[in-house]
Amino acid sequence: MRTVRTTCAYCGVGCGIAAGVTGERSVQIKGDGAHPANAGKLCSKGTHLGETVSPEGRLLHPVIAGRTAGWGEALDLVSARLKACIEEHGPDSVAFYVSGQLLTEDYYVANKLMKGFIGSGNIDTNSRLCMASAVAAHNRAFGEDVVPCSYTDLEEADLVVLVGSNTAWCHPVLWQRIEESRARRGSKIVVIDPRRTETAEQADLHVAVAPDGDVALFNAVLRELKARGLVDEAYLAQHVAAPEGFWDGLEGSAESAGVSPEVFEQLVDLVAAHPKMVTMFSMGANQSAQGTDKGNAITNLHLATGRIGLPGTGPFSITGQPNAMGGREVGGLANMLACHLGFSGEELAEVADFWAAERICTGPGLKAVEMFRAVHDGRIKFLWVMATNPAVSLPDAGFVREALERCETLVVSEAIADTDTGRFAEILLPALAWGEKDGTVTNSERRVSRQRALFAAPGQAKSDWKIMSEVAARLGWGDAFAWANSAAVFREYAAMTALAAKRGKVLDLTDKAGLSDEEYEDMAPFQWGGALPLRERYPTADGKARLIAVAPIAASAVDPAFPLILNTGRYRDQWHTMTRTGWSPTLAQHRREPLAEVHPADAALYDIADAGLVKITTPSGTATFRVKVTDSQRRGEVFVPMHWTDVNAGEGRANRLPSQRVDPVSGQPGFKNSPARIEAVLPE
Ligand code: SF4
Repeated sequence: MRTVRTTCAYCGVGCGIAAGVTGERSVQIKGDGAHPANAGKLCSKGTHLGETVSPEGRLLHPVIAGRTAGWGEALDLVSARLKACIEEHGPDSVAFYVSGQLLTEDYYVANKLMKGFIGSGNIDTNSRLCMASAVAAHNRAFGEDVVPCSYTDLEEADLVVLVGSNTAWCHPVLWQRIEESRARRGSKIVVIDPRRTETAEQADLHVAVAPDGDVALFNAVLRELKARGLVDEAYLAQHVAAPEGFWDGLEGSAESAGVSPEVFEQLVDLVAAHPKMVTMFSMGANQSAQGTDKGNAITNLHLATGRIGLPGTGPFSITGQPNAMGGREVGGLANMLACHLGFSGEELAEVADFWAAERICTGPGLKAVEMFRAVHDGRIKFLWVMATNPAVSLPDAGFVREALERCETLVVSEAIADTDTGRFAEILLPALAWGEKDGTVTNSERRVSRQRALFAAPGQAKSDWKIMSEVAARLGWGDAFAWANSAAVFREYAAMTALAAKRGKVLDLTDKAGLSDEEYEDMAPFQWGGALPLRERYPTADGKARLIAVAPIAASAVDPAFPLILNTGRYRDQWHTMTRTGWSPTLAQHRREPLAEVHPADAALYDIADAGLVKITTPSGTATFRVKVTDSQRRGEVFVPMHWTDVNAGEGRANRLPSQRVDPVSGQPGFKNSPARIEAVLPE
């Protein structure tokens, strides 16, 4: 048995794995005791990775219009279509839609190809659905997308507040660390979530906030702390700038947040009594039409009380995907240029110079939801989707499917032969999967770790960065895309962070730019920016952080045709659209089908029986689910999981339901608050 140290394929905790390779496609999975993220721990998904590495179901050869093709023909066709599209319709007629499953090296190459050589900002990522609001909140408050905490802060805090995070299911190893710390030192846990989740069940206090009530709640808590004299005036004076009228404009109350006066009082008492406090927030906060404001409402509280940059303190956004953070670093989002740089003339010139770019983009591109609207209405004619499944994962998935159907050229790079999105593709390119890829990922605490190959590539599959560099070479840009291996791509990315460092940004990997191939191969996990990167100086022009004035959105009138609120989310043992976890028989035991969770009073009102079938309808679509009647739901709200799709269930489900409504700052869709109605499906 050969042991290979690598990183888990799934969530943003980024657990280290010691993989014991026992055969051509077999592996024994153990937690890596030396990895700082997990110290040997794993959750059910990570533990059962070995059940998902079979070549069964893999895409092994390029496919053009349904027939097997060679790489030469497929890449010639992709390049020819790209070239023709750019020449006839301009660079903004093409787009890449990429993924937090890509390694940093893949992301870097995709970003360089689109923004530096094709000349458009049209590269966006499924991470837009995951943490774009947190990125925007960081930029507004700190001047750069920097997470100011580390996992050890969760253990050193006396109070951990979890906002919109079912941590026990969605980031289970962090939950284990938080629970162990509570057992050891008696820290307190508060969960702010409309649902009484498995995490909320185990909290010291569950605040069942109304959907999108978070800004009202955090504003009200901050106002109360100010009244109790708990604002850190000295820290504010030295390190934080506040807009005029900030304190008088703090709108929101317990009532408008949907929280009882008693629970609000308990929350404020806990916050007041525990200065060592971390607020960890995730999809429940980010996936909202007010996601950025939520991130800033949370951050305001920490800045105003000086609870940042000290052990056991800080606002802590947790990412969903294994490499959402790496994508943010290199710039794989439509509204970032590269390496935490923006689109000013000077930054564009510096990046163009660094890349020797032929045709640098001129500004931001289209964010995910806008991008698919542009595909739908024909502004984008060439779309290349890499390692993601937008036909299922984007909101208003029925509209997205129409867009994919209409797209003149749809290229999909995938490890899996049959995905909902791949079914629409004219050109399918076989990409490497976890266990075959070689590169780096960055987890939620800015820790960069190696993902290493365990097995040889199956069939003709290639790494994503290699596929793109071969297309670039065909377009005449071979010199700028001529890396020998992923180590060389990483070195170039690390060298490029000098442009960020020169501007006072925290992102600085220049000490890795000279790594040899061997040093890259052996590279131990490291954290950029250090454990506590922000407190005394922020990467803004004046070195100060910013309080951001945020106000609750006024509730819109309830449409009698859609009287309920639909929330979507995840199960413990499935990952996204199940293209990997769906292969594990053990993981399938946890939940065999998606269940719509309905409060008993709503079940009575709509004459719905437990375990019966219901049809859920929103202005965007309809889907059918079996029902679980449970008082863990607030009355008037329904929850469904997002994993099941046409391919794995024979019927597209949850994401047909949410609308295309997005946060106006971040462009992140609001998956958690859709108007809906529910009706029983009666037996024929
Ligand atoms: Fe993998 Fe996340 Fe589980 Fe760790 S917590 S084993 S990274 S899924």
